[in-house]
Amino acid sequence: MNDFSKNASRREFLKRTGMTSAMMLGGGLGAAHFAGAEPPTSGQLPEPASTKREKPFIAIQVGARSFVDEGVDKCLDTLQEKAIVNVLMPTVFTYGRGLSGRQVPGQPLPDHGAQEYDEIHGGSYTKVHPEYYRNSVIQDIRAPELGEFDILADVTPKARKRGMKIYCLFEEAYNPALMPNFEKIAEVDVYGKIGHSTCFNNPYARAFLTSMVQDWFSNNDLDGMMWESERQGPLNTALRADFSNNSNRSICCFCPHCLRKGKEKGINVERAREGFIALDRWASRPATLSSPSNGGFVIFWRLLVEYPEIAAWQDMWFRSQEEIYGLIYGTVKEVNSKAQVGWHIMHLVAMSPFYRADQNYARIAHVSDFIKPSPYNNCAGPRLAQYIKNVQSTIFRDFTLDEVLAMEYKLLHLEGEPSFNQLPTAGLSANYVASETARAIADVGGAVPIYPGIDIDIPTKLDEKRTQPSDVKAAVLAAFHAGAPGVVLSRKYAEMKLTNLAGAGQALRELKI
Ligand SMILES: [Zn+2]
Repeated sequence: MNDFSKNASRREFLKRTGMTSAMMLGGGLGAAHFAGAEPPTSGQLPEPASTKREKPFIAIQVGARSFVDEGVDKCLDTLQEKAIVNVLMPTVFTYGRGLSGRQVPGQPLPDHGAQEYDEIHGGSYTKVHPEYYRNSVIQDIRAPELGEFDILADVTPKARKRGMKIYCLFEEAYNPALMPNFEKIAEVDVYGKIGHSTCFNNPYARAFLTSMVQDWFSNNDLDGMMWESERQGPLNTALRADFSNNSNRSICCFCPHCLRKGKEKGINVERAREGFIALDRWASRPATLSSPSNGGFVIFWRLLVEYPEIAAWQDMWFRSQEEIYGLIYGTVKEVNSKAQVGWHIMHLVAMSPFYRADQNYARIAHVSDFIKPSPYNNCAGPRLAQYIKNVQSTIFRDFTLDEVLAMEYKLLHLEGEPSFNQLPTAGLSANYVASETARAIADVGGAVPIYPGIDIDIPTKLDEKRTQPSDVKAAVLAAFHAGAPGVVLSRKYAEMKLTNLAGAGQALRELKI
């Protein structure tokens, strides 16, 4: 159990995935040839990380807009003073609103930064070096709204002087309307419609991802990166097993690359398609497709047994996502072998037993230097309530909302949390943070550090649970008491109240960190 054997085990994994130095040095198209080998089975774990005690990892996610509005030095002063932050996670790429821009419109402006709302375009918040994109069909990605400001070049030297580390935050959030050629890297749904995200098995999408990663790590002095891939796979999408209230869902991916891969794996791809369409009809039309004598669940289970291809397609989707983890991991290491690479695992993992089963921390640990689960306990109130409504409308339609929630608490091993009616305004307790942290630590067997995300003002409606300083303090204490060697203050500094951010500092001082 030493660094050498740990690295050797990862090199072995990368070798099995078909990723060689020559491929990655060849740039995007090299990565495009990355063949679909799979991470090891869940029974095997990489060697535990070094037991050497290191400084706790106190990270914060922060967008470029905050540095432009408040000034780089002033912003860094605030982060150090309020929350003893020693790791910056600057949002380098996203077209999403959750990690860039100011406060989300409609939410009260926080007690710092410019006191007006903004509009975002999104894209790359660092300079784009075209030579890295020669093999990418996507080229024009520089976010225009902040002029020449570069969240890496303009922030890194100042942060370094203060002893802070820099981990790029890379969100898989795209805006096809602003990205020429997006259709060439896009996922395709079960009905043949182009989706809003990329396909994990599309070689051009893979080339695009590796182009960006190579560009950032070749041109900046970075300590690591974290990728956010917030998608739940086709089966969870079909079952509405997520916390979105948007009815416009795409069951993906059925693009030619995925169909080819499915065939190679021996899956009957037409049966997979038929199965998902049948499932979608069952989920959308409960009244006509649930027989009164059998109820909803029996019909659902019958579909799953009649179409085992549904589960096979779901598993292939998650294995493909893990291949992208491996691809990004290997690409970073080729440029900077010391850089640390990890993954934000979306909030659904602390909400849905289905998604929890899909996200196998032990398997992911093979291509990770750290993992960030996201047990956001305040916004969990309304989000879990929505999740319960969603699954009660499909797979659990034989139950009441309270019964479904009670069952979920049992399945997630949570006790003493609010009833369905109280949930949106009460949120979940700090025990929820401790529970997911401890579970993740146990699952990876100490192989990689677990840095749970701490919810600080993640938006909820004004009459729902809102973050208080004591919530943040309790969540940080819970994470460390559960054994985490660090935390990631989330989602973005621009939406956090300083009084709430200071709750993290209070906990860390109490812990003598
Ligand atoms: Zn595909």
